[in-house]
Order: sequence, then C-alpha cells, then structure tokens
Amino acid sequence: MTPVWIELDLSALRHNLKWVAGRVGGIGRVWAVIKANGYGHGARELGKVFEREGVAGLAVVSLEEAVELREARVRLPILVLNPGFPAEAPWMVRYGLVQSLSTPEMLYALSRAAHAQGRPARVHVKVDTGMTRLGVSVGRALELLDRATSLPGVECQGIFSHLATADGIQNRFAVEQLERFRRIWGQIPSGVRNRLEWVHMANSAAVALWPQAVRKPFSGVR
Ligand SMILES: *Cc1c(COP(=O)(O)O)cnc(C)c1O
Repeated sequence: MTPVWIELDLSALRHNLKWVAGRVGGIGRVWAVIKANGYGHGARELGKVFEREGVAGLAVVSLEEAVELREARVRLPILVLNPGFPAEAPWMVRYGLVQSLSTPEMLYALSRAAHAQGRPARVHVKVDTGMTRLGVSVGRALELLDRATSLPGVECQGIFSHLATADGIQNRFAVEQLERFRRIWGQIPSGVRNRLEWVHMANSAAVALWPQAVRKPFSGVR
C-alpha cells in the first residue's frame, strides 16, 4: 500500500468554525457533523477540538462511530444520524447518545431501554422533506413527534430535516423542502413546540448559501 497522510491545520479548522458560528448566531448553535471518520480527517481529533471550542454537539452516522468518540472521552451530545436498530437502543441510552428518530419501533425500544436503565433516552425527530433517504414522512411526522414527546423515559429535544440539494444557489427544491418543514413546524401544538430545544435543517452548504435555512425556526435554540 502506498502510504498517505493528511495534515490538518487546526487553526484553519477553528477559523472555519468561527465563520460558521458567525452565520448561525454563535458556536453554541453549531452541531459539527464528523461522520465517516470526520470525512477522513480523524473523528476523535476533530471531536476534541470542537468540544474545546464549545459547539453544542457532534453528529455521526452510526452507533459505532459515536462509541468511538465516547471512548476518546468526548462528552458532548452526539447525534446518531442513521435511524438505528431497536437492538441498539440500550447502547444509545448507556452511552448517553441522541437518536435521530424515524420510526415508532425505535422510539418504543428507546423508551424500554430508558426505563430499564433509569436514564433518559434522547431523540431528535428526523423528517423526510424530500431527501427520500432517512426520516419519517411528512404525513406521519406529527404523530411520531406526539408520541416522542409523551412517552416515559424519552426526552424529545428537537426536530430536523436534511436538504438534498443545498449546494446550488438557484435551487427551487431546497426552497420547497424548507417550505415543507416550515409547514410542519407551524402545525406543532405550541406546548410541544416550546419544549423542542433544537430545530435544524442547515448542512454546510446551506450555512454558506441559504440564510433562510439558518433563521428561526430552522436552526439552533428556539
Ligand atoms: C451528512 C449530514 C449532514 C452534514 O452535511 P455536510 O454537507 O457535511 O454539512 C447534516 N445532516 C445530515 C442528516 C447528514 O446526514
């Protein structure tokens, strides 16, 4: 094998983080996505830098990736983006992770695990507004949110969606997705809405190109 390496300038990383923070209203409103080993840059190293800099949380795709960060003593909230298997629920609770919630099956498994361990299970409800990859459909989102906010042991801390095509400026599909998400937000009873700490929809491209995706109600603390 040909040896390869990456040199990452941490001051450049901090510079970019500050730029993102400036666009979204502060570092405390940033969730840093470091899936796939931080896109090949080293998730553990990046996770520690982001933690020191004060981001709100991290996100990865799988339970394994999240456990690797916990074993590196990263204590931040970690959102696991895949929908999870019910058999993973006890580990999600044990490691204090946040589940991206797409199905009632995963919700019930998390509630049972929370009850068994006497610790909360945390979730952000993931709505599929058009990426058609992960998430609960628009038509079922409110029902899942209602269950997630009423089931014992479960702390539903947020709701979010993911833009499929944010990296073009003239992009009507992104506008449509934002509109679908805004409509769902508008239908959530205010008592439930007030308990949701995180409402998010902006990936990197959206932070750079779509100011409307980082404004209320789409990003950060309500
Ligand atoms: C990968 C991913 C992100 C981050 O996307 P970037 O383009 O790296 O900013 C955000 N949200 C979800 C659901 C993702 O899967």
